[in-house]
Amino acid sequence: MNYDIVIIGAGAAGLMCAIEAGKRGRSVLVLEHNAKIGEKIRISGGGRCNFTNLQADHANYLSANEHFCKSALARYSTRDFIALVEKHGIAYHEKTLGQLFCNQSSQQIIEMLRRECTEAGVTIETSCALNAVRKSEKFELETARGRYVSGSLVIATGGLSIPQLGATNFAYSLAKQFGLKVTSLRPGLVPLTFDAEDLQFFRSLSGIALDAGVNCRGVEFREHILFTHRGLSGPAILQISSYWREEEPITLNVLPDMDGLDFLLSKRETGKEIIAVLNRVLPHRFVRGWFERFGGSKPVNWYSNRELEEVARSLHQWKVTPTGTEGFGKAEVTTGGIDTDELSSKTMEAKNVRGLYFVGECVDVTGWLGGYNFQWAWASGWVAGQFA
Ligand SMILES: Cc1cc2nc3c(=O)[nH]c(=O)nc-3n(C[C@H](O)[C@H](O)[C@H](O)COP(=O)(O)OP(=O)(O)OC[C@H]3O[C@@H](n4cnc5c(N)ncnc54)[C@H](O)[C@@H]3O)c2cc1C
Repeated sequence: MNYDIVIIGAGAAGLMCAIEAGKRGRSVLVLEHNAKIGEKIRISGGGRCNFTNLQADHANYLSANEHFCKSALARYSTRDFIALVEKHGIAYHEKTLGQLFCNQSSQQIIEMLRRECTEAGVTIETSCALNAVRKSEKFELETARGRYVSGSLVIATGGLSIPQLGATNFAYSLAKQFGLKVTSLRPGLVPLTFDAEDLQFFRSLSGIALDAGVNCRGVEFREHILFTHRGLSGPAILQISSYWREEEPITLNVLPDMDGLDFLLSKRETGKEIIAVLNRVLPHRFVRGWFERFGGSKPVNWYSNRELEEVARSLHQWKVTPTGTEGFGKAEVTTGGIDTDELSSKTMEAKNVRGLYFVGECVDVTGWLGGYNFQWAWASGWVAGQFA
């Protein structure tokens, strides 16, 4: 069978690309090895799909080339995707920090994309494994359902996270087959793990969530952190995990809205135990655990100025050194990917392989937590859909 365009991967980026190319009158086939399309959309945002972010901007993305994503994000913006969602009557709300979620279910986004594909005349084949890709004048694909030939080939197979949902290294190995560079791949937006001593402490605090500032390599996020049985999680930790590198510490500020020293000094004349004083601004179990580990509590007026400074400093600048992450099995995204030097930012086409496009998460563009990754998937898919 011949098609103008074959797209590998029926996720966010692949489906958006298919819709746009179909609208241009191109014959489009989407090949998906899972039995269903859009599995990551289905589970995203706790089942409500955080489909975009009102503040999406190139500054919210990690990439070896911070400018690469600008063109696609400008040409297909958050507003454009919201217009599509509204056209389909899908109710949504802003949860926090510009994050837009469906009121009901992420399945609505999948159905919206499926309907748009049908209207654009796109053919979707699910449960179809791809065995080999060759290029002569056109692309030749060997699949479980036979041979397909296409003028353009769009790779939209996503990253390595959550292999149990069908993630593969297809994009990276195909890039290498065609001589394209791939940057180093790491789990991103992922909980962090710790050595036995820290882990024992975090376990004893398990279930506590704190509003904190988390800093690493000069980047800071201010959101919740969560102590768990496996280490540290919560939005601020997931965000910083994309920046963290082995053996480096991260710094936690668990009193981000106040000057801890001023606060402690102002409570001196009360003569209360320092635990009782800090219980007013931090969860009780956290404060008790903290002083059990880092030095017993005594009345606040028994502390010298130096000692109070030290307590305040350690709450504002608590350094912990992760030993690793929970890995691709738990990561929301893969950081790194197809080297952006290999691709045109205007079209997403490989500079040296005519007709070969890479879109979505497989490219070395990784968004923050909060709808940014889908916005990149929609925007890069949309751009390729205008040209493929
Ligand atoms: C638990 C979780 C929650 C998330 N929540 C959000 C959120 O709320 N907001 C947000 O912005 N981002 C979220 N993300 C990230 C977001 O899901 C991804 O960044 C986005 O789906 C990437 O889109 P994509 O189209 O590039 O890849 P994917 O959506 O992963 O699609 C790739 C498709 O290719 C298929 N495929 C893979 N290999 C092959 C192959 N060899 N042959 C054929 N098909 C193949 C896969 O089965 C899949 O259908 C979340 C991720 C996870 C894991």
